[in-house]
Amino acid sequence: MGRIDRCLNCQERKEILARNMCAMCYRRDERRRKRQPKPQSGLSSKHIRLMKTRHALLVALYGSNATQEQVRRVLQILAPQFAPLRFMEHNAVGVHLFGDARP
Ligand SMILES: [Zn+2]
Repeated sequence: MGRIDRCLNCQERKEILARNMCAMCYRRDERRRKRQPKPQSGLSSKHIRLMKTRHALLVALYGSNATQEQVRRVLQILAPQFAPLRFMEHNAVGVHLFGDARP
């Protein structure tokens, strides 16, 4: 059983379910939060998945003692797969990670 405390919302002393609210207020709040989707960070789950994949790829490449040239070529070959991340390529670390073909 949860602790008994004053509910943040209705101010009644009840069993607190979560976020300092009683079960009734908490569930009402949950429904309200579902109706109002939280603001997007600009990165979709697709972007995050791709970033994780690219990171894992780089770890694998460096772990296999690939030369800088080999890493560059692999990233060049896979560039279409990571194309959705190109909008971030001007980040400080982005440029070389994309294996950009520019001299
Ligand atoms: Zn309440």
